[in-house]
Amino acid sequence: MIGGGISGLACAFRLRANGVDVEVLERDGTPGGVMRTRLEDGFLTEAGPNSFQSGEEILSLVHDAGLDADLLRADSRLPRYVYFGGRLHAAPMGPGALFGTKLLSFGAKVRLFREPWVTKNPDGHEESIREFVTRRFGPAVHDVLIAPLVSGIYAGDTSRLSMQSVFPLMAELEAKHGSLLRGFLRHGKARRAEAKAAGRTIPKKALCSFSNGLGVLPARLAERLGGDLHLRSEVMALRSHPGGFAVDVREAGVERTLDASRLVIATHAPRAGDLLCTLGPSTPVPSECCATADVLRAIEMPPLASVCLAFRKADVGRALAGFGFLVPRGSGVRMLGCIWSSSLFPGRAPDGWILVTCFVGGATDVAVRDLSDAQVVDSVRADLVRTLAIAASPRVLAVNRYAAAIPQYTLGHRDRMATVRRAISRVPGLHLTGNYLGGVSVGDCVRQAYETASEVIRDAEVSVAAAR
Ligand SMILES: Cc1cc2nc3c(=O)[nH]c(=O)nc-3n(C[C@H](O)[C@H](O)[C@H](O)COP(=O)(O)OP(=O)(O)OC[C@H]3O[C@@H](n4cnc5c(N)ncnc54)[C@H](O)[C@@H]3O)c2cc1C
Repeated sequence: MIGGGISGLACAFRLRANGVDVEVLERDGTPGGVMRTRLEDGFLTEAGPNSFQSGEEILSLVHDAGLDADLLRADSRLPRYVYFGGRLHAAPMGPGALFGTKLLSFGAKVRLFREPWVTKNPDGHEESIREFVTRRFGPAVHDVLIAPLVSGIYAGDTSRLSMQSVFPLMAELEAKHGSLLRGFLRHGKARRAEAKAAGRTIPKKALCSFSNGLGVLPARLAERLGGDLHLRSEVMALRSHPGGFAVDVREAGVERTLDASRLVIATHAPRAGDLLCTLGPSTPVPSECCATADVLRAIEMPPLASVCLAFRKADVGRALAGFGFLVPRGSGVRMLGCIWSSSLFPGRAPDGWILVTCFVGGATDVAVRDLSDAQVVDSVRADLVRTLAIAASPRVLAVNRYAAAIPQYTLGHRDRMATVRRAISRVPGLHLTGNYLGGVSVGDCVRQAYETASEVIRDAEVSVAAAR
């Protein structure tokens, strides 16, 4: 397993649970990749993800890692806000709230509720999120509700992201039912009927973390892997041979070569491309490997900065009760959004303090990479004055910079990944896992990691059967 982020660790953990011997090679000195928690003077900050959405696979991983007792679920009644027209508005969380929201004009609401009568995408061609949402719901719903939400997850540009790749269920519901509103109603009804027939209830989705932060999960998985996790071990090159692969590793400055019967690459996409490039010439399909490497290296990963700031409660003029807020582009505020970390989960700040985490950059603001840390903090502070009227000096707890943060599923992504999967399946024993394949969230990474583990196990069983 090359890479000890959540994708690599979850895949390795799953393989181990199924009796497969696995060694994880991780370049950094700590496991978890971008999932990193820091504790300092009673403040708990997250460098990468701040929470994950509960889902079947990730909750089963949490359970198997023995972390059920540490799991925290955010209160789903907490409001989320959108900064619009110079102030914060509660985001409508259900169809009923859409009638009352001040985020949309009367005309925009009429347009929104005309959705069931809008003609569907006639030939099913791939559309950007902007095209799809504007066509079905009108431009205001796109600009004020959907684009900021997509910025919050992908730090992306809706005019370049593919609807079919980012929100496949919605594209499918339109194709099947001719309307999203109708599609959601029927889909929900069918799921409830299915659950009832099977005698189970549909679990409520919640945003989750752990009492001691998200870093607890990779730390626990690393602990369970014990000596099979090699930190400070960077894979430099790969070669294929009849029995498997030779893996050149630089471990604490010393080079060595390991032998592996099967290989999973669990790094981010551009690095996976670099490694495939070294592997290509020794495989039965050199040109396909090189073409695949180019596709992976071309996946855009714009820069992002997250800034963790603490304010004394007395210096903040308002109670920050909620998840935080998102900012539509063009509103005169640079940050993409702000998480009210100490309101979301307990134990994030000492008594008398408030902790917020703000994000700047992404596909619509790549110039963030040219700012110094001090400039990023200044920009965030100016935005906090405008949005929350907080003029007090904060305690700056962390400025986390990512030169390449989140892969962008731009138009054509789904087809390109299908080609990548086909090419990789032609190299015996080689597998990929990571956030460029089946969704970028932590939960998506774990689901993908479990699928990859199942592929490895199937692959191994076929080889054993063929050898008999
Ligand atoms: C700032 C930020 C905020 C986010 N917020 C959220 C959120 O709130 N909720 C959510 O669900 N998701 C969020 N995400 C997305 C999610 O966190 C990531 O998609 C996910 O953690 C990626 O995990 P990964 O293991 O695939 O990749 P990574 O975390 O990038 O791990 C890859 C690992 O491979 C290692 N590696 C690279 N090259 C080599 C090599 N040659 N040899 C050995 N090791 C190598 C790296 O050191 C790294 O540890 C966020 C992402 C970012 C960047």
